[in-house]
Amino acid sequence: MPRTKKVGITGRYGTRYGTKVRKQLKTILENLKTSHKCPQCATKAVKRVSVGVWSCRKCGYTFTGGAYLPVTPLGKEKGRIIDTLSHTSEKELKK
Ligand SMILES: [Zn+2]
Repeated sequence: MPRTKKVGITGRYGTRYGTKVRKQLKTILENLKTSHKCPQCATKAVKRVSVGVWSCRKCGYTFTGGAYLPVTPLGKEKGRIIDTLSHTSEKELKK
């Protein structure tokens, strides 16, 4: 159906709420509605349960993440920092 090629999922709002807001909502909703990769079994079966709560439909693994994405870019960065800190000893940190 090429009727909603441009507006996609936000076609339901018609011409209401303004172009910019609908475009922003489009990226959010498209991320929200697709299945994401499971961090435990690596299957594309992760769906959002509620805000920040994600669950795998295959293995049942439930975890917290971003409001609209299972792993946000900022969350990735934080994980990297925590990983680095947990691998450095206290002596190295005091230097
Ligand atoms: Zn899984």
